[in-house]
Amino acid sequence: MNFNEYPIDSLMYITNRPEIVFTHGKGSWIYDNNGKRYLDFIQGWAVNSLGHCNDGMIEALNSQAKLLINPSPAFYNEPMAKLAGLLTQHSCFDKVFFANSGAEANEGAIKLARKWGRKFKDGAFEIITFDHSFHGRTLATMSASGKPGWDTIYAPQVPGFPKAELNDIASVEKLINAKTVAVMLEPIQGEGGVIPATREFMQQLRELTKKHNILLIVDEVQSGCGRAGTLFAYQLSGIEPDIMTLGKGIGGGVPLAALLSKAEIAVFEAGDQGGTYNGNPLMTAVGYSVISQLTAPGFLEGVRSRGDYLRAKLLELSEERGFKGERGEGLLRALLLGKDIGNQIVEKAREMQPDGVLLNAARPNLLRFMPALNVTTEEIDQMLAMLRSVLDSL
Ligand SMILES: *Cc1c(COP(=O)(O)O)cnc(C)c1O
Repeated sequence: MNFNEYPIDSLMYITNRPEIVFTHGKGSWIYDNNGKRYLDFIQGWAVNSLGHCNDGMIEALNSQAKLLINPSPAFYNEPMAKLAGLLTQHSCFDKVFFANSGAEANEGAIKLARKWGRKFKDGAFEIITFDHSFHGRTLATMSASGKPGWDTIYAPQVPGFPKAELNDIASVEKLINAKTVAVMLEPIQGEGGVIPATREFMQQLRELTKKHNILLIVDEVQSGCGRAGTLFAYQLSGIEPDIMTLGKGIGGGVPLAALLSKAEIAVFEAGDQGGTYNGNPLMTAVGYSVISQLTAPGFLEGVRSRGDYLRAKLLELSEERGFKGERGEGLLRALLLGKDIGNQIVEKAREMQPDGVLLNAARPNLLRFMPALNVTTEEIDQMLAMLRSVLDSL
């Protein structure tokens, strides 16, 4: 169908979108209404951990759709229990609450920490978060985020989220007072431009929060579920947080998220937390297929080796073009361009003929790469060849 034949005008404006309509995809490739194909290094924003239309996910979706779609969150269902068991088996956490988006999981983490503060810390409620962090688009998670300008768009903000500097432990310590209940961070800032918290900083944070008897919350909506080359990014720093949130990759593309905590932190009482779709069997069945595939023998080793491959190739490209290097973990990486040409590259890469490539500039001066975790080295080479030809044309 022609672009003009779609009732695009009926959609509420929220952002500038290119004049194409995506129709289908498989693995690392996605196709538009003109039949043009694109090598996808965005993957639904680090969401499609197994690429487009993964066979295992399709099978889980189909077979669960015939069995049970939603018995209500007031009852147990089988996929919900199986996925919770898989997540606690493969992490340091004991309890899981399912949600439908990363923001909603983070809202749950904020509520759980405040509840814990009410119960055990004399009503402490402040959660220290970080400049340039991103935690979602609900009012509380926007307030928790350190995105420039977000303090005023929908003012007044939800109070109680003082901001520290990532990788600067003194800036965190300075903000701790009797009202502090937790510190919350992304182990790798994603939207902020793929900025990893150092191993040393994570360990300092764990020590500091223990010393003050406050909670450590990791927002692994982007860094979790294999993206960083380990199942969860906190595992890279050898610490155990109290609370973790997951989103994006856990559903491999379907709306699924999770809030996890240690047993002693799980203090919700009847009626404190819930949601109509939370833990529905259709989505948790897909999540079970995704996490089973990610934890299958050899899978994460493969992510790490392809991450190393991408890293080496990006460094080579950086050297060749006089860029400023690269950073990241696993298959969440950024190429530092040193100048604000990111958006120009993204547009040209998408418009290339005959095939395009989907890239993202999380900041104007860098490109972020978040391919499917099962991307092949040949596809990485293809992406780099296409990127080189875009750079030649600038
Ligand atoms: C994307 C993201 C969120 C928000 O997730 P949604 O599913 O869009 O609500 C929260 N935290 C981090 C770190 C993210 O990358």
